[in-house]
Amino acid sequence: MKKFCVSLFAILMVFCCCACGKKDNLDEIGQNLSLYNISVDVDVETKSVMGNLNLNYVNNSDDVLKNIKFHLYPQFFEEGNTDKVVASTILNDAYPNGMSYAKFDVDGVQVSGQDVSVIYSGDCDGILDVSLPASILPSDSVDISIDFSFILPNCEHRFGYGDNTINLANFYPIICVYENGEFDTSGYNSNGDPFYSDMANYVVNVGVNRDYVVAGSGVRANESIVDDRKQVTFNANVVRDFALVISNKFEIKSTKADDVTIEYYYFDDANADQSLRAGADAIKTFSNLFGDYPYSTFSIVKTDFIYGGMEYPNLVMISADIENQDDYMNVIIHETAHQWWYGLVGNDEYRYPWLDEALTEYSTLLFYDNNEGYNLSHSEMLNAYKSNYTLFITVYQDVLGDIDTSMRAIDEYDTEPEYTYCTYVKGVLMYESLYQLIGKDKFVDGLKEYFNLNKYSNATPDALISAFESASKTELDSFFDSWISGKVVIR
Ligand SMILES: [Zn+2]
Repeated sequence: MKKFCVSLFAILMVFCCCACGKKDNLDEIGQNLSLYNISVDVDVETKSVMGNLNLNYVNNSDDVLKNIKFHLYPQFFEEGNTDKVVASTILNDAYPNGMSYAKFDVDGVQVSGQDVSVIYSGDCDGILDVSLPASILPSDSVDISIDFSFILPNCEHRFGYGDNTINLANFYPIICVYENGEFDTSGYNSNGDPFYSDMANYVVNVGVNRDYVVAGSGVRANESIVDDRKQVTFNANVVRDFALVISNKFEIKSTKADDVTIEYYYFDDANADQSLRAGADAIKTFSNLFGDYPYSTFSIVKTDFIYGGMEYPNLVMISADIENQDDYMNVIIHETAHQWWYGLVGNDEYRYPWLDEALTEYSTLLFYDNNEGYNLSHSEMLNAYKSNYTLFITVYQDVLGDIDTSMRAIDEYDTEPEYTYCTYVKGVLMYESLYQLIGKDKFVDGLKEYFNLNKYSNATPDALISAFESASKTELDSFFDSWISGKVVIR
């Protein structure tokens, strides 16, 4: 996610490839992954959705599994849970027409064709625990069918609708990551992006009124119209999530970045060509810097969204509230960098939000180094970060007396500004310090190595540190520890 924008004039805070040159073969890489076959039928008048997930779950762990757990993120948008999805300081912006709540139901679960009982657990009953009639061995698979239905809240968030768009993200039951002998059942938090998931393959069918345009992760494999309804099918291989944005106001522009088709879905954008170009330049730049973007499509989608932007595989949401074009393009570039840091190289965004966000934000600075002609530069942005961070520390120390500047899990920050400053702003300062310490070439080599060793899987802080150590032949544990633990003093 992008929580703030940087322009030439001000920092606006919204608390606020391989070596052979051939692209990775996603069909091959995705052979042993779980398959989500999702159908959703959207009623645009009532904002209600009937859905079904047909999942072929592949047990890629070394353990025999007797149950499978799923995140039900829409549960957190129901009445009584609003503090979990939006900070109180921005409640009125997120719900411009007054409070509005989701209603989400699981209507039935079958395993291999048999009805099974389920248990709800976790914060806000946000975890669905499905018992398996028969255990599944490592490398074996099982078919699970889940019928679900929901009503969207009138909320300018990932899961909700505004005056212009319907945002369908984190809307279906998604498998919890299984590691260290258990499923990770972290809940939801208004700070950052509380997500953690594994790579999988997706086939998603969407039914909607014929005058609506559907933007989605992956490749639009089919689109047909019968009477007043439209059916759209998307295929997305080797992605860790799937998102849709639906609108009857969308115009579409497209271009190519090498062999990637970039599509821009927008409304009210007098600079649409420029916005599209920023996304294409970002795909090219980051492919050159870190390693190839292996997918054939990338969609930039202007949406009703409370924060600057939000990343999903092959699709990024960009807030319609951003008025300054430089800020708007900066968010496009930030969200595009997430295709590498979060999308391809995944991480536990709940526990280590800095791992993808800090790297993504620093990647936007590297973008400006490689693209003259944009009205932002690495040095100007860096100076803004420095002065803003020291101001933040001063103000907080005056108010609180002391401040914890460690880079920590999203639920360990008392306020959204603390999360934002410690994760994004301090993160950028940490990477600038490393860049100065080991030099540009070794820094970029470290990122290439981190990408190549961890793409299509989930990385840890240790994996990042070891990639930079390998590229620079320098011991960096104490460097990272001093920044992450909050010991380093920035003046
Ligand atoms: Zn971000």
